[in-house]
Amino acid sequence: MFSRLGIGITDKCSAACEMCCFGCSPAGKRTLSRELMMDVIRQAGEAEEIRSVGFSGGEAFLYFDLLLECTAYAHAQGLKVSVNSNGFWGKNEKRAREMLRELKTAGMGLICFSADTYHQQYVPLEDLRTAMRLTHEAGIEVDLSIMRTAQPDGIVYVAEALRPEIYDATVTYYPMLPVGKALENMKEADFVDSIRTQAARCTFNGIVTLCFDGNYYMCCSQFCTDIPRLKLGTPGEMTLRDAETRVASDDYLYVMLMNGFGWYADQARALGYDIPERVCTACHCCYLIFRNEKLLEDLKERVEEEAGRLRIQHLLGQ
Ligand code: SF4
Ligand code: SF4
Repeated sequence: MFSRLGIGITDKCSAACEMCCFGCSPAGKRTLSRELMMDVIRQAGEAEEIRSVGFSGGEAFLYFDLLLECTAYAHAQGLKVSVNSNGFWGKNEKRAREMLRELKTAGMGLICFSADTYHQQYVPLEDLRTAMRLTHEAGIEVDLSIMRTAQPDGIVYVAEALRPEIYDATVTYYPMLPVGKALENMKEADFVDSIRTQAARCTFNGIVTLCFDGNYYMCCSQFCTDIPRLKLGTPGEMTLRDAETRVASDDYLYVMLMNGFGWYADQARALGYDIPERVCTACHCCYLIFRNEKLLEDLKERVEEEAGRLRIQHLLGQ
């Protein structure tokens, strides 16, 4: 079930974006220990199905030595390595070149940058463009995630300003999500309900995350720390394998993975719950359904019955 490991090294960040899902900022104090990360990376390396590790934060480059050491260790375990960054380090070209050379030597394969009008209040676009250019030049792949809000003009401006580096990057376009700081600071109209609830399916893609709060979560979604059901436990209590077993044996999650959220929406509506026709993403739908303890309790029997039916079907190879 798990094929990738995510590690949120820290909640400390060079920025304090108004819409940050985890509320990261320069005041962040939670950082995973070297020993803990090494142990979990070792377990990932030993698990045949886990093939890659992605570091994030906060801003992982603030703990560069730790990032470098973990990258080298993960690479030595045979794992592909990536890191998310806001690219603030593009400001100092000389130092950025050195860091990228060291990361490349250690085995870093991909840097995923983020851009939007909120990030760019902290990271000038020219610094981000420099970081992307130097990453290309260092022989490391570049991804770029651009966040969409109800005002699309900002996106066009960001995309234009990142030319020509954007041409060689894999670009992902995703909506701003009503979670974390965005829930506090944004207006309802800033969120775009982009998909039909009936068609929403989990997109976790086999990623298990060790978060800077010290817990394993089933996925790396922006919502993961806000959905209690997705919290699996700590590395002190369980191995990565145990975490996987925990997901596989949870009837609610099993039914969600097999049937998608359309099934949950139908069942919830049949019980009189008001479920919106459209949501921002599948994870938004997950948040609406799995945070509602009363709804989950009311659905218990239906979920158990459906999980039993699906497991039998699976055993029969249907
Ligand atoms: S750069 Fe990313 S992690 Fe840092 S505050 Fe902004 S959204 Fe949060
Ligand atoms: S749908 Fe739920 S479990 Fe799946 S990735 Fe999104 S938040 Fe995680």
